[in-house]
Amino acid sequence: DDRIAGISSVIRVIRDFPKPGILFQDITTLLLNHKAFKDTIDLFVERYKDKDISVVAGIEARGFIFGPPIALAIGAKFVPIRKPKKLPGEVITEEYSLEYGTDKMEMHVGAVQEGEHALIVDDLIATGGTLSAAIRLLERVGVHVVECACVIELPELKGRDRLGDKPLFVLVS
Ligand code: 5GP
Repeated sequence: DDRIAGISSVIRVIRDFPKPGILFQDITTLLLNHKAFKDTIDLFVERYKDKDISVVAGIEARGFIFGPPIALAIGAKFVPIRKPKKLPGEVITEEYSLEYGTDKMEMHVGAVQEGEHALIVDDLIATGGTLSAAIRLLERVGVHVVECACVIELPELKGRDRLGDKPLFVLVS
């Protein structure tokens, strides 16, 4: 698809952020470009419309940028998956491992019903730890995760392998 090259060209790479040695993929420059932002959303919508997805689950923070326009366009609800202690209601929590230590993510109890079909959205997959925890969180409450969708994949980190049998769709590798 010739829209992919345009999207890829407006993702800015910032060296040594947030730590020395990291090449950070910055999607805020993609958001500044109307065509690239719209093409990004359109590509996901074309893939997921008519797939009977009732939930788009977006991962804090950049899954909150790409998830809602996809949800609106495909006729699904949007559910935020957040860092600990951000959601005000009763939550279900999933812990996951980081390079050093662990982190947690939370979702509101009652946001999704057993048997619903979900798409999980984030901006980028690196090690896959974040997405695999989001999959577990949704599956624990009986939701079927249809696919994970990211704008960017860092393939050398093999995050895809941590998602088990869940399909991963990315625009830029
Ligand atoms: P993982 O759990 O796959 O190792 O890391 C993915 C998570 O970290 C995502 O939520 C993503 O937003 C964030 N992340 C890690 N590296 C980058 C990066 O280079 N750019 C952006 N935009 N996000 C990153």
